[in-house]
Amino acid sequence: MKVITIPCSFDNYAYLIICEETGEAAVVDPSEFYPVYRELEKYKVPLTAVYCTHHHADHIGGLEELVDEFDGLTVCGFEEEAERIPGLNSLLTEKSRVSIGEIGGRVLFTPGHTSGSVCYIFNNHLFTGDTLFGAGCGRIFEGTPGEMHDSLNVKIKMLPLETKIYFGHEYTAQNLKFAQFIEPDNMAIKERLDAIAGKQGTALITPPTTLQLECATNPFLRCKEEGVSKTVAEKCGVDQLDVLSVFSALREMKDNF
Ligand SMILES: [Zn+2]
Repeated sequence: MKVITIPCSFDNYAYLIICEETGEAAVVDPSEFYPVYRELEKYKVPLTAVYCTHHHADHIGGLEELVDEFDGLTVCGFEEEAERIPGLNSLLTEKSRVSIGEIGGRVLFTPGHTSGSVCYIFNNHLFTGDTLFGAGCGRIFEGTPGEMHDSLNVKIKMLPLETKIYFGHEYTAQNLKFAQFIEPDNMAIKERLDAIAGKQGTALITPPTTLQLECATNPFLRCKEEGVSKTVAEKCGVDQLDVLSVFSALREMKDNF
């Protein structure tokens, strides 16, 4: 299995997944047509499927042109997003098994950013769209903080720590600054910031990350850590907060950071 990261638009990522056994390829979140098409030409692989994490325009911007270009393309997305993703012809549920050539995968239903957001897991590679970012998470547009909390801290955190994570936007530097604001003494956050210092534009491509690194540096996965919960409670002017309140307050603070 080969994964090609394709920067699109301003700060989006599409991902090309190639089965090295059969040469078949699929794309996750085709934000734009040409950047994806160029990679397909470069690797000379036939596109057989598109996997949409959610319906937002910046994640499906290239979809219609791909459908026009590649006959018989399978377009997958969660059943709840069916009306909102044009060309969707494979409606997935959480029980669905998905595949790219010989690579088997499954669907994690992770509502919060949208009501039908999903992540895809192929082998130990997780594609998170706008649910989990490097050192951050997506805004809660359609779901509740409780849903987003569980998507991240129950469903995603259950995966093995070595899981590689491919996310939908390059927000890592800004997210790490917020993480450091919450946990100024966290050395893993400092190291991660140092590693990308001075890089920007095409020099700064931070996916994939790992679940292990996210658990060490991403405040939205660290609500139970004393360093996070105490700081958030302090900033809220209270003695202590339950985990979900810490998560909600963090999301609100990040929205205004
Ligand atoms: Zn989105």
